[in-house]
Amino acid sequence: MSDETGDAERVRDEGFDDFLDAIESGEGFYLECPEGHGSLPPRRVCPHCGATDLREASLPETGDVETFTTVHVAAPEFVDDAPYVTAVADFGGIRLTGIVRGIDTDDVTVGTEVAPDVGETETADERVLILRAP
Ligand SMILES: [Zn+2]
Repeated sequence: MSDETGDAERVRDEGFDDFLDAIESGEGFYLECPEGHGSLPPRRVCPHCGATDLREASLPETGDVETFTTVHVAAPEFVDDAPYVTAVADFGGIRLTGIVRGIDTDDVTVGTEVAPDVGETETADERVLILRAP
């Protein structure tokens, strides 16, 4: 059994939790480099071009589902949540991956408008990014 993450797994992830906090308070943001590449915190370097001059850009209120997957057999930490839909939504400068809630799983399609939110998994009460009906 690999135990690479071990105790570190439950430790607050400063950058990403700050990001979730910001979304929760309606002030979502992402990081943008001078070339306009979007990335999610925590980052010091643009993952696309290596630029180190990252600034916070405000996250649009809604995005469009780009791809999605219905999960019927979930990993242990999501087992009570299944079936659920995970989607990648395009918010202009940034793509966000989250669990779709508030939209019938059969109604999620490419182009469905979603708004970012923060929720907890049914299984482990872990905070996760939610994409819900705007
Ligand atoms: Zn870049």
